Amino acid sequence: MLKIAIQKSGRLYDDSLSLLKSCGLYVDNGMDQLKAEVRNFHAEVFFLRNSDIPQYLEDGVVDLAIIGENVLYEQNVGVEVLAKLGFSKCRLSIAFPKNMPFENIKSIEGKKIATSYPNSLKKYLEKEGISADIHLISGSVEIAPNIGLADAICDLVSSGSTLFKNGLEEKQIILKSEACLAANKTALSLKGEIIEELVFRIQSVLKARENRYILFNIPNSKINEASAVLPVLKSPTVLPLLDEGWSSLHSVIQVKDFWGVIRKLKNIGAQGILVIPVENMVI
Ligand code: ATP
Ligand code: MG
Repeated sequence: MLKIAIQKSGRLYDDSLSLLKSCGLYVDNGMDQLKAEVRNFHAEVFFLRNSDIPQYLEDGVVDLAIIGENVLYEQNVGVEVLAKLGFSKCRLSIAFPKNMPFENIKSIEGKKIATSYPNSLKKYLEKEGISADIHLISGSVEIAPNIGLADAICDLVSSGSTLFKNGLEEKQIILKSEACLAANKTALSLKGEIIEELVFRIQSVLKARENRYILFNIPNSKINEASAVLPVLKSPTVLPLLDEGWSSLHSVIQVKDFWGVIRKLKNIGAQGILVIPVENMVI
């Protein structure tokens, strides 16, 4: 039985569960459940506190986990990262109050910095040869400078709105992070086959999310021109329309190229352009 840990509640919960479900795992998750069986895959899902997950993973209590890279780095555990998952993107940054002078990162020399990530901050300061006073707080770090508890903070940032609301400015990124799939090292050799199957499914789902299925109508005389702007997997599918001289072209395009490709296709003379999400992509 493959044991997979995900966050019990919080920022990673929804995306983690929906990723597993997109991989075709039926997770019977009830309210306040700590463990759920997967009906159609030889696995069970454990709902754990984010900060407990790295240790459980290293100890082999669970085989796999969906967890922020920053938490693995902070706890310095010996586990294997198998895939980056593209959600819960954030950065660990040093922020200063707006009115505090900042020239470069050496400006934090001798200052008191509040953080919930003391090990990551310590590693950074050592690398830069800076000595500062690390003040550990478990939550609401961003209010520390306002109440005189610290000069600056080191915390996770995504949009930056929490910093802004508290009169802080992001000055130095220490680490970039996103959710990842991590594995216990022993499990990798003992349960390699089922882990590989899950990683394969995750990669197909992630790939699919980056792509869209596109179809449109085009005069036959323009088929070659239209094909040339489609960064296709192989070559586009061409189906004749009942209307003489017209065809329907089908292909897959990347979300990031999307609007550029649509504009070019319209200019070439494409009509009735439809764009459809792709559920899975096995290449
Ligand atoms: P626990 O489950 O133990 O209560 P937690 O309170 O750290 O853990 P969350 O606040 O939900 O849990 O954050 C979980 C993870 O979400 C972080 O470790 C980080 O990887 C990611 N994350 C993404 N953006 C942010 C952000 N702006 N602030 C904090 N965490 C973020
Ligand atoms: Mg929490």
